[in-house]
Amino acid sequence: MSKSFRGPIFRCSFCGRAAEEVESLISGPDVHICNYCVQSANEIIARHKKQAVISEKQKLIPPNKIKELLDQYVIGQERAKQILSVAVYNHYKRINNMTQADDVEIEKSNILLIGPTGTGKTLLAQTLAKILQVPFAIADATVLTEAGYVGEDVENILVRLYQAANFNVQQTERGIIYIDEIDKIARKDGNPSITRDVSGEGVQQALLKILEGTISNIPPKGGRKHPEQNLVAINTKNILFIVGGAFEGLDDIILRRIGEKNIGFEKTLSNTHSLSKSELYAMVEPEDLLKYGLIPELIGRLPVIGTLNEIDEDALYTILTRPKNALVKQYKQLMKMEGVQLEFEEGALRAIVAKALKRKTGARSLRSIMEDVMLDIMFKAPSMEGLKSVTITEEVVTKKKEPIYEFKKSKKSA
Ligand code: ADP
Repeated sequence: MSKSFRGPIFRCSFCGRAAEEVESLISGPDVHICNYCVQSANEIIARHKKQAVISEKQKLIPPNKIKELLDQYVIGQERAKQILSVAVYNHYKRINNMTQADDVEIEKSNILLIGPTGTGKTLLAQTLAKILQVPFAIADATVLTEAGYVGEDVENILVRLYQAANFNVQQTERGIIYIDEIDKIARKDGNPSITRDVSGEGVQQALLKILEGTISNIPPKGGRKHPEQNLVAINTKNILFIVGGAFEGLDDIILRRIGEKNIGFEKTLSNTHSLSKSELYAMVEPEDLLKYGLIPELIGRLPVIGTLNEIDEDALYTILTRPKNALVKQYKQLMKMEGVQLEFEEGALRAIVAKALKRKTGARSLRSIMEDVMLDIMFKAPSMEGLKSVTITEEVVTKKKEPIYEFKKSKKSA
């Protein structure tokens, strides 16, 4: 109790009631609070908490709006974007409604994305997390196979998400995890060409646990667990898992299934032969994934399947130029900071696309090709006095010729 408090009667600093008028008066240095004010303070806190939950619910973005936002970053892949938008909307609707103590518990629907490398699987998952403002982490399933301590490694994915959530458990538990190269941990028994495997199924089992929902005790900084370390409990029940893989060869399995069902119907069979790879992948069924080597329990936990198409020439061109953070826009911005206007001639863009097509890694190679084209320019430009603009022509890309440099006043090109 404070000595500086004047007068014989102690009063509540908030409502002014005297000690005799209340049931209890708690004192701190120079301040007192009565039981009535403690109660109303508690009510205010509860109200704030409720408001926070309500505002979280208001954040629920309808599927068509999610897709519109995805469209700004991810080119093409219309069906996959639609499937993801609906799945993600339902996922967060389910989490929000769980606070209302409903009887019917809607099960979590994790998502499987199938498509060749560089077609936007990671980009889709990443962009979703950005749109929804939830923490996001990426893991590579193949790394899990190579380490000895499978269980721990799988938990390390959660550590990464926890770190992305700024060490906030509640945020972590609403996050999105993308697991890449899930096809590489397929069980390969029965396949004579197998050189490395054995652990594939073990990793699938470990993943299954966190996918379906478990309480995992993680070391907050990652690494191995020590007995004396404080562990953080993370419930994975509401974490959305998006797993992706190229599933090379799955088209043959699908084709065989369709073919077997159509034996005797020559016409239908010959039609299936004219199906494109993308069209075949889009026909995937759980039984095909089983044949590929995923364990049935894992397939059961991935009820939503989206397939991505190969990136063709036009899509590459669009990816290069149109998305919000398109590479062309990024390099223009970079040069603008230098006070230089950067232009790409149509032929130059087409030549970059042609190079990317040859590498057969989807849109993945665009960045390194651009980086290669731009290196010399970015090396020289900062010290070129009076430089006004740089124009990249087709020959800059194909023959490594000098671009067109234009200078303020009347200097000529370098
Ligand atoms: P994946 O996970 O399918 O192998 P990524 O999503 O990592 O491929 O894509 C690699 C890079 O290529 C990304 O950084 C992105 O810039 C670009 N990219 C790939 N697909 C698309 C797409 N559909 N739309 C826009 N950019 C794409």
